[in-house]
Amino acid sequence: MESKASGRARIPLHTKILIGLVFGAAAGITSNALWREAPALGWVVQNVATPVGQVFLRMLFMLVVPLVFTSLALGVAGLGDVRKVGRVGAKTLGFFLLTTTLAAVIGLILVNTVRPGDTLEPAVRAQLLETYATQAAERVGAAETSGFGISTFVNIVPRNPLDAAAGGDMLGLIFFTLVFGMALTLLREEVAAPVIRVLHGVAEAVAVMIGFAMRIAPVGVAGLIFSVTARFGFDIVKSLGLYVVVVLSALIIHQFGSIGTLVRTLGGIRIGSFFRRSEALMITALSTSSSAATLPTTIRTAEQEFGVPSKVAGFVLPLGATMNMNGTAIFESITVLFLAQVFGVHLGLPAQVIVIVLTVLTAIGAAGVPSGSIPLLVLVLQTVGVPGEGIALILGVDRLLDMCRTVPNVTGDLLTSIVIARSEGFELAADGPRVEETAETIAIPGASPVAAASGADNPGPHGAGGRGPAA
Ligand code: ASP
Repeated sequence: MESKASGRARIPLHTKILIGLVFGAAAGITSNALWREAPALGWVVQNVATPVGQVFLRMLFMLVVPLVFTSLALGVAGLGDVRKVGRVGAKTLGFFLLTTTLAAVIGLILVNTVRPGDTLEPAVRAQLLETYATQAAERVGAAETSGFGISTFVNIVPRNPLDAAAGGDMLGLIFFTLVFGMALTLLREEVAAPVIRVLHGVAEAVAVMIGFAMRIAPVGVAGLIFSVTARFGFDIVKSLGLYVVVVLSALIIHQFGSIGTLVRTLGGIRIGSFFRRSEALMITALSTSSSAATLPTTIRTAEQEFGVPSKVAGFVLPLGATMNMNGTAIFESITVLFLAQVFGVHLGLPAQVIVIVLTVLTAIGAAGVPSGSIPLLVLVLQTVGVPGEGIALILGVDRLLDMCRTVPNVTGDLLTSIVIARSEGFELAADGPRVEETAETIAIPGASPVAAASGADNPGPHGAGGRGPAA
């Protein structure tokens, strides 16, 4: 669209982001291989790549609180009455639970079949335990103070919504916003209308700001990936090779097998088209390792690429970024079993069922930030009798696994928004000739973010419905 309007061929944004990813990764891996010990490389990582990546990351984080508040409040208010909110809410949570359980089961099947823990060299084990002992002890300490019990649920109700927002307590912010949105639906029309208009205005401004952030995404992604790959020692990946391969295989099976099948059957969208249109989303998740930081891109993708109505996207996706973590469930179930194998702790079928339940609960409870699941993983380990310090074995590869597990985390959120929208009778931008058949139309997905980034013709995610591919 936009390339026609401007009269010259422009590279779509999602392609630019992909180029940033490939360039950053290639440069990082090469630098690591050639100049791992050189101080200059450390300098470049610290003073160039990391700051560039951090600016992008912080731009995204900066938008999370206003985005969650406006989109969720408008989503709830847009759903209409409280009963409808309850129905859509129940369906959403049910779907989250279903896909997360499926993910945990896939992880368990794979780790039981391959048994990577049995093949870990004792010398490697001793060395890793020693190298990461301090970090592991910190995580174990954090897990012990955070705890997981009845207070976890009580704490969902924040004492002060501003504290919740300022302190990154997403569940607290979500709880307050849900209640606020429901209250809006109970007000008289003339009282509610001005509030909703203001929320719409703020949401539109946030959408334009997401456009700004996405403009710097190609460079930001390159910076983030370079910082990781340049510092990354591949030796550790080699020593834990089989474990890493099992986790990555399970993530790939879930991402393309389970999510792909569900998007085809329940979402009515062709698998290839779905993943093509989700490219910017997946790369943002990969480079930020954070569902929360990816939320602006997730909402944008759902609305602009798939035509999910803003009231559904605004309702489902903030919840999903905090509660729905398919990739994390896979990572946790495999890691618990792997460490049990390494330490010779036998976990029979009943114990593995407990692992699934705990994994699903902690995947819901984990924060959508880098390594957000690690403290909760320690709790699961200790609950089933595997030493929590065992995470020392995997901390060295956690960054890599975190990047990769965040991808199914956010793709699962997108899938849920599509399935819920469809089940509520909304017409979506399913794949059809207009998207699949011509090169020109294939460029459409990338065109909208760029167009939006320019701000001028951006209708925003909360326009009056007259936008998006299906609108
Ligand atoms: N980084 C993950 C996310 O934000 C959470 C985790 O598994 O640590 O989705």
